[in-house]
Amino acid sequence: MERTDVVVCGGGFAGLTTAVALATRGASVVVLEAHPRGNNPQFRGELIHPRGARDLDRLGMLTPLEQAGSVEIAGFSAWADGEDDDVILPYQRGRGAGVGVDHHAMLDVMREVARTRGVTILLGQRANEILRSGDRVIGVRTECGRGFRAELTVAADGRQSRVRKMLGIEAFVELLSHTVTASVPRSALPRPAYGHVFLGGVGPVLAYPFARDAARLCIDLPLNAAKGADAIAEYVRVHQAPQLARSVREALLESLAKGEFGGCATHAVTTTTCAVPGAVLVGDAGGCAHPLTATGMTAAMNDAQTLVECTNLLGLSDAALVRYQRLRYRFVRARDSFTEALYEVFRAQDQGARALQRGVFRYWRGSARARATSMGILSGDDSRMSVFMAEYARVMGISTLDVWSGLLPVRPRAAATSHMLKTSLGRLERAVDFAVQAMIDERRVRLTDLPAFEAVA
Ligand SMILES: Cc1cc2nc3c(=O)[nH]c(=O)nc-3n(C[C@H](O)[C@H](O)[C@H](O)COP(=O)(O)OP(=O)(O)OC[C@H]3O[C@@H](n4cnc5c(N)ncnc54)[C@H](O)[C@@H]3O)c2cc1C
Repeated sequence: MERTDVVVCGGGFAGLTTAVALATRGASVVVLEAHPRGNNPQFRGELIHPRGARDLDRLGMLTPLEQAGSVEIAGFSAWADGEDDDVILPYQRGRGAGVGVDHHAMLDVMREVARTRGVTILLGQRANEILRSGDRVIGVRTECGRGFRAELTVAADGRQSRVRKMLGIEAFVELLSHTVTASVPRSALPRPAYGHVFLGGVGPVLAYPFARDAARLCIDLPLNAAKGADAIAEYVRVHQAPQLARSVREALLESLAKGEFGGCATHAVTTTTCAVPGAVLVGDAGGCAHPLTATGMTAAMNDAQTLVECTNLLGLSDAALVRYQRLRYRFVRARDSFTEALYEVFRAQDQGARALQRGVFRYWRGSARARATSMGILSGDDSRMSVFMAEYARVMGISTLDVWSGLLPVRPRAAATSHMLKTSLGRLERAVDFAVQAMIDERRVRLTDLPAFEAVA
């Protein structure tokens, strides 16, 4: 049996940042990564908001990423359905830039940094058994039979986490949509220094630079839209390409014609527990939302930083894990709530959501304050549920005014308002659910009676 302070299961973004953060504080850390070359071939995120970028900088990873070809992102350019002009949403002033980077290139750099901090990374090692002493987790065993005994076991094996299941932690997993990904020249973007969101098709299209000369498109497709490469390409051509700015559309059509595109499923994963005696969940293993808001990696960085703060304060103790659970969910629930609401409004599948989408754009066009507040929420700099709800109420007010100041006769106005109210009340109900869950998190934390274990000195 090999011994270490911390064993991290999963060497993706969350596992590596957590490993570096803990190793920097003096813990001995082993990372077990299932993939033999380290880079899981599944498509993963490439845009990191300034909050995540600042955390990467604190861990000494930003400069090596820049040297490896990452690019700065200044904010978002949002394109409404049927409009020729975009709305520019800059990141908040003084908070730094976002980062666009090829995911695999990023993991290569992160592994290098991790090794220089003394982290042991073992590739081709899949964690497949939890070791316990009574109720307490004391490590893992891999498929190859190697055992690792640790004070803390970290599950960082992604949204379909097997380790989470082995820890006995339940998750609610919802398949939301599929994403088609394609690479186009960066010069095809109307604003090459910005992330873009294009609306008006069957789902939002996200576009952003991820290298000095290349940009990525992430195209959201409804479930069961099409099966097989040719049918998917045709579906995207007909239902999604027309909503894009001309230069992006032409570049996309070229990629589709050459068959140069990939894809993956998108999920929402919710957990209500992310700590058990001796083990925690980080990153997507602890839950994830639709990638529209590009917050997965910023949230994973937040997990790593929160875990380090808690263990700095309380050692590798159960009290630290309890504190981690409480602080983590405060951030995550606000992110989930915001992402769900924005996805509903941007997908605009019903009249209510369409009216709200028009309201969002009017709101953004109306004031710099509105744009700054929205970007504060989007980038994770402001994770207060109350701020999100206040913004939502403002958009609702503007959307209602919009409907009633239009030229429509009374009956369609009333119908549009009623649709909008239905959508908004549904959203409000979800937000209340989230808030109640947050209260339960806090309460449960006080009631949790975790067996004590010796803190690492
Ligand atoms: C289409 C799409 C676009 C996205 N865009 C963005 C974006 O622009 N910005 C953003 O911030 N986020 C984005 N995300 C989310 C982001 O990719 C994830 O939040 C992030 O990758 C989570 O990192 P992770 O380490 O938790 O999980 P993963 O990246 O899934 O890594 C998990 C790792 O664990 C390994 N593993 C699995 N099982 C085991 C095991 N049993 N033992 C050992 N290792 C194991 C895997 O091989 C993998 O390397 C996007 C997601 C999708 C699907």
